[in-house]
Amino acid sequence: MADCLFCGIVDGKIKANLVYQDERLVAFKDINPQAPVHILIIPRKHVAGVLDVETSDGALIGEIFQVAARLACEQGIAESGFRIVVNSGANAGQSVFHLHYHLLGGRRMAWPPG
Ligand code: 5GP
Ligand code: ZN
Repeated sequence: MADCLFCGIVDGKIKANLVYQDERLVAFKDINPQAPVHILIIPRKHVAGVLDVETSDGALIGEIFQVAARLACEQGIAESGFRIVVNSGANAGQSVFHLHYHLLGGRRMAWPPG
């Protein structure tokens, strides 16, 4: 989609530090990390957010969690623990409207989240 930052990363028009890619997903380091490990996992296809996920996206969403688990192992945070976050809308602080899953780890996380 035109004017979408993360579509630009998928298309290679905007540089990112990629850590994983396949036919359906791309994962890259967050530009403003909130933890020692902070990776964004996104679908290649443009989905604006959680509210736009369709029933036919079920396999895609499942694959995102599989990739998150794989990256958690690769990044050495599987045993110590990690958090997967999806922000939706203003109160949650969503700033990019292309579905993305934050994979955060490498430090103790607070609960409830801020
Ligand atoms: P949100 O606030 O929408 O849940 O998350 C958007 C995330 O995208 C933020 O954590 C922000 O740091 C990250 N981000 C914004 N612009 C860029 C960029 O150009 N490159 C990368 N790698 N991350 C970005
Ligand atoms: Zn997009």
